[in-house]
Amino acid sequence: MIAEKMKPLVANNSAVREMFEEGARLKGIYGDENVYDFSLGNPNVAPPQAIMNAIIDILNEEPANRVHGYMSNAGFETTRYAVAESLNRRFGTSYTEHNIIMSVGAGSALNVILKTILNPGEEVITFAPYFLEYGGYVRNYDGELVVVPADTETFQPNLDAFEELLSEKTRAVIINTPHNPTGVIYSDETLKRLTRILLKQEAENGSPIFLISDEPYRELAYDGAVVPWVPDYYKDTIVGYSFSKSLSLPGERIGYIVIPNQVEDHENVITAATIATRVMGMVNAPSLMQLVIERCIDEKCDIAFYENNRNQLYNGLTGFGFECVKPEGAFYLWMKSPVPDEKEFVEAAKEFNILMVPGSSFACPGYVRLAYCVSFETIMSSMEGFGKLAEKYGL
Ligand code: PLP
Repeated sequence: MIAEKMKPLVANNSAVREMFEEGARLKGIYGDENVYDFSLGNPNVAPPQAIMNAIIDILNEEPANRVHGYMSNAGFETTRYAVAESLNRRFGTSYTEHNIIMSVGAGSALNVILKTILNPGEEVITFAPYFLEYGGYVRNYDGELVVVPADTETFQPNLDAFEELLSEKTRAVIINTPHNPTGVIYSDETLKRLTRILLKQEAENGSPIFLISDEPYRELAYDGAVVPWVPDYYKDTIVGYSFSKSLSLPGERIGYIVIPNQVEDHENVITAATIATRVMGMVNAPSLMQLVIERCIDEKCDIAFYENNRNQLYNGLTGFGFECVKPEGAFYLWMKSPVPDEKEFVEAAKEFNILMVPGSSFACPGYVRLAYCVSFETIMSSMEGFGKLAEKYGL
């Protein structure tokens, strides 16, 4: 006997489970190295050596009750100060530890933010394609997720459609840049127009609309691309960040929330988000990892590795005639299915031991996502299969 709210989640879980099971089945038959699994966003790059060193040093140097004890629900003050100072150096801001709440990755950052600001029945808007977990997160607080259809020309947010979907019920908008699943970075022009639209609606509503910037891929940008700092554009922006991808630490569950002083009623928002962290049962972000982050705040994983993978995969696939969005950031390649039913295409790819995720898993059918956070060998070895797949579809 499970709760009504869990039933749709349980029903949808089967698609994800099937994908896992199919991968395991193929690997069992053909061997790990002969299955080209582009389905998961689990980084293949090792965390920087500095992280390993910091873990050991902290265990040797810091008192055990500090390393393993409770601290403020917002996190260690010293860690939050290090995060604030790092942001200030990079973005010319003037945050203090007060503006930072350490989180249990981006997933919990989003949940804490939504719990902090959302009333039942209020709407949260996001842009297709999108990370499907947003739906579950918004429903956790009895909100409604409203999805703006994709602009399939640019995969920047479709702002004309967005304008029409805003209403007096809109409480928040979630954006994600660099973007999963398209690899697009939202441009300066996009963010400026998005801001103008939001300000107009905010004035009409007479209450704030929060822009939630979900940023687990902030550091993964290629060809020197700049990822704009969203709070510079729109005052009521709250940032959810994660070290899952930038430091290859997804299992460690560490990230942070930024609530700048410019956010409407910021003192209450900061207090409420700190309490949300507690009452949702996280209590605080993992203590050892907070101390690691404090020592390694400006470390990054090997971005050149992903850039190399991106170049190989993009050049290889477009060379075969597939239509792809050239990723500017993150580690996903978004490819148009040669047939309208992308699930059929995903099935056909399995004949060549290639695993991809259908676009309908991101509310955008007709496309597929390839996660290229895999070994370079996987990409090279998959090329023969992709060539045959292209032939099969007459490309
Ligand atoms: N948001 C997006 C767009 C993601 O792709 C992911 C993970 O893949 C998350 C949030 C959750 O990240 P975390 O592991 O930090 O919870």
